[in-house]
Amino acid sequence: MTGCTSRLAPSPTGALHLGNARTFAINWALAQQHNWTMLLRIEDLDHPRVKPETINQAREDLAWLGLTWDTETAIQSTDVAPCRAAFRTLASSGRVFPCDLSRKEVQAAQSAPHDNYDGMRYEPTLRPADAGRPWNEPDETRTWRFLVDDREHTVNDQISGTHTFNLSHSIGDFPVWTSQGPAYQLAVVVDDARQGVTDVVRGNDLLSSAARQQAIAAALGLDSPRWWHLPLVRGEDGRRLAKRHGDTRISSFHAAGVPAERVIGLLASWCGVGDQADPQPMDAAEFAATVEISTIPTDDAVLTARNIQWLTDC
Ligand code: GLU
Repeated sequence: MTGCTSRLAPSPTGALHLGNARTFAINWALAQQHNWTMLLRIEDLDHPRVKPETINQAREDLAWLGLTWDTETAIQSTDVAPCRAAFRTLASSGRVFPCDLSRKEVQAAQSAPHDNYDGMRYEPTLRPADAGRPWNEPDETRTWRFLVDDREHTVNDQISGTHTFNLSHSIGDFPVWTSQGPAYQLAVVVDDARQGVTDVVRGNDLLSSAARQQAIAAALGLDSPRWWHLPLVRGEDGRRLAKRHGDTRISSFHAAGVPAERVIGLLASWCGVGDQADPQPMDAAEFAATVEISTIPTDDAVLTARNIQWLTDC
């Protein structure tokens, strides 16, 4: 299909590692296969966690791997005016309400332990009695929550099919604005819409966010993109790839003289290309020509000690 647009959207809160690289490589391969325009958007709104030096590093890592983009890099924090306008629209239509409760207070009101959403649900009992009233001059120094409906939201995913979420039963009313500015859930909806993003490809840890993002988009009268949520990469202990699994940063492999083709070859072996036990080096173009979205294993990939040896023993 032509006329479609996707985006690589790294958060500069840490270095790109093999897990992020796999998601980005598949996103890029899909864009090549379907002639999508590719954007690069740096999602730097998570203020306390942003490490500015990782912005350029992410660009370098992607370029080293051969993953390209078609437009100038968009840095999310440099233009929050459209998010502010969207927030004001939500406020004036009574879709958000201010919340001054601390995390501890929200936690203390939990009716049952919640495994997801960081263990936190905003209980309906916490909702102020006047929630739903319009606010024409919302105070931007406060936190504002999006008022969720008690109904099923259907997320149609191109990879894993149809999922239903009742936001009221799971996460409850969630923040779209904080004293720091737009929260991730709002920023991603606004930026995807204004940048013409039609296809969002990302890790399936964000699948439940898709329901939240669809609800915000609907409240703003915006279309939601198509979703492609990919399995993640885990360590041999079954936990999501992280520092505890050793140094899996792309920049470290680059600095150690590992050819990019080895890294891409490993990512390909996690995508059902060839024999998983015997990865073959390949460049990004070859990866895009070989990987097939329908044959990517639906289980999470596992980074093994043997994988690391294969990367570094060359
Ligand atoms: N910036 C997010 C991340 O690095 C991705 C957000 C998204 O794709 O919507 O996890």
